[in-house]
Amino acid sequence: MKTYKGSCHCGVVQYEVTAAFTEAMRCNCSHCKRKGFLLAFVPVDSFTLLSGASAQTTYHFNKHHIDHTFCNTCGVQSFAYGGDGNGNYMYAINLNCLEDFDSYALPMKDVDGASL
Ligand SMILES: [Zn+2]
Repeated sequence: MKTYKGSCHCGVVQYEVTAAFTEAMRCNCSHCKRKGFLLAFVPVDSFTLLSGASAQTTYHFNKHHIDHTFCNTCGVQSFAYGGDGNGNYMYAINLNCLEDFDSYALPMKDVDGASL
């Protein structure tokens, strides 16, 4: 396990996440594909938002189970928060937004979100 710093592009939104990332999820749904996400899910306890809580807009679509939160200034979505509809909540980390972390070097796991 290691603690990483994540941020949007302009730096208003900053967070820390502690995890051992072993693969990057690449989803082909209409939303993930447009944003080019490489994602990993972490438990709620592993994530701490350090700044930018009030500088974000939250986008919802489909079943509205996931808060897609992006920076009002630079538009980057560095993480998401959501549930599975059964009361289980997770953070989804946009691995491309972590500092000093080579997200492209991870094994890719393709997720067929478009078919869900
Ligand atoms: Zn920003």
